[in-house]
Amino acid sequence: MKDLTRCVVTPRIKTDGFDPLGVGVHRASTIVFENAEAYARRGERGHDGYSYGLYGTPTTRTLEEKLTRLEQGIRTFLLPSGQAANSFAMLPFVKAGDKILIADTAYPPVRDFANLDLGRLGIETAFYDPVDLGDLERQIDERTKIVWCESPGSTTMEIQDLPQIAAIAHRRGALVGCDNTWATPMNYKPLTLGADIVTEALTKYISGHSDVLLGSLTIRDEALIVPIRTVLGRFGIGVSADDASLVLRGFETLGVRLKHAASGADSLIDWIAKHPLVEQVLYPSLPDFPGHAIWKRDFLGSSGVFSVTFKPAAVPHVAAALDVLKTFAIGASWGGTRSLMAPMPVKSYRTATAWQGEDLVLRISVGLEDPEDLANDVQAFFDEVASRVVTQAGRDPA
Ligand SMILES: *Cc1c(COP(=O)(O)O)cnc(C)c1O
Repeated sequence: MKDLTRCVVTPRIKTDGFDPLGVGVHRASTIVFENAEAYARRGERGHDGYSYGLYGTPTTRTLEEKLTRLEQGIRTFLLPSGQAANSFAMLPFVKAGDKILIADTAYPPVRDFANLDLGRLGIETAFYDPVDLGDLERQIDERTKIVWCESPGSTTMEIQDLPQIAAIAHRRGALVGCDNTWATPMNYKPLTLGADIVTEALTKYISGHSDVLLGSLTIRDEALIVPIRTVLGRFGIGVSADDASLVLRGFETLGVRLKHAASGADSLIDWIAKHPLVEQVLYPSLPDFPGHAIWKRDFLGSSGVFSVTFKPAAVPHVAAALDVLKTFAIGASWGGTRSLMAPMPVKSYRTATAWQGEDLVLRISVGLEDPEDLANDVQAFFDEVASRVVTQAGRDPA
């Protein structure tokens, strides 16, 4: 062999006896075959075989398998983001003339995807009250192909009665999809409660370090494998082994990170809930939260993301007061090591229900910092809001 060829052809080295705990990063587009016959028959390798990088590598399959086991499903597909997982949980199952029903409190880009993109393809989207089974019963019909859930709801945390919703949907022959990003499969297992498809933004808690975007879609019925796999292939959706490897690494500490974040949230909430400028803390593990009983029945634990609504006098000052934060960062994509706060508008994302509170909700995600630093920051933030309320009151003509 000439040197120029030696540069190109990589020698195979022995791997037996090499048994690391970490998962190898297998980057690949091309997969080679031992002979022309094997190449010709590559289509027969099935869902678990390897034929082309887009359809999976040992790295991505390892992450898929880990998710499948935790979700108690039969197969997982990886996608480039959590939002991609949501879109491709719907797309394979709808055609012009069909209808889908989406919980009014779903992640806002899901609303836009359904209204704009599915709408353009002639699929009708309707939104239902996430906590009113009667509303779902009234709106579901024989054209409905998917009932979409997210529990707790984005920002406002409404808890859905998934077993009941699934019973209603299945009576009409509709599939049930559920975005499980808040709870992760550690704390909620939608496939065991009647959902057919569960999605995760691995971007959030599961990867856990705010440095990668990835999503997953797990199913419990063999019949869904082919529709999803073939649509993903035709759309050219695959993920990199490097990204999957980052998620696999973060995954190992998911359990301890979630527990830590939930207990950090609990101690901040004890203090925040008593503050005179606070209207309500939205967090399902609070005994007086409206969906608490269902949460207790169906969930295995809490995460570190909750929301706060304010008394009307405080609302105009919340955003500006965030500037005093030292430990919390201001940002949207929660579930990482750093604690975050983000002011979220709600009303423009509700059409089936009317949000009764003020339009600004402060979403707080507790990370892994020392609880005392977080408590000091929260105190400084509320002091700043209070001082702005007082100054404003002094300026208002009596
Ligand atoms: C962040 C988020 C997503 C989207 O995840 P990306 O990976 O950022 O696309 C989907 N659903 C919920 C509930 C989320 O919070």
